[in-house]
Amino acid sequence: MRGSTHVTAGLTAALLMPNLNIPAMAALTLGSILPDIDHRDSLVGRHVPILPRLLKHRGVTHSLLFAVLCYGLYPPLGVGVLLHLLLDLLNPAGVALLWPWKKRISTPVVTIASGGVLDGVLRTGLWVILATVVLHRFLGYSFW
Ligand SMILES: [Zn+2]
Repeated sequence: MRGSTHVTAGLTAALLMPNLNIPAMAALTLGSILPDIDHRDSLVGRHVPILPRLLKHRGVTHSLLFAVLCYGLYPPLGVGVLLHLLLDLLNPAGVALLWPWKKRISTPVVTIASGGVLDGVLRTGLWVILATVVLHRFLGYSFW
């Protein structure tokens, strides 16, 4: 998944969750892109250039252990990380979900390559949901 797909998914999830305050929404959205801090060209990794040199992409920051640690710091952050992991499981390269076991896991049936057509379709669908939620929740527009 591209970073824009992850951040759109994070924003959409944050807005769909009831009774979430602004800091929690921000943390969930941050969590949705945080695991890619291990990639030098990612939205977060480019701001912390030392980490992509130390960490293997889709390794420890893409593990359930990392999600649990983030959840322990602040639950919405951990939920955002978990959302990122779920989306990256769709990537054919897989993620080291059970790190330190280095076996990469991906979904066996549906795969979505980062930057591919399905990545764009997913991102567009998420934008439609996000726009619908914003129109309904903040502007009072009713679709039903
Ligand atoms: Zn990732």
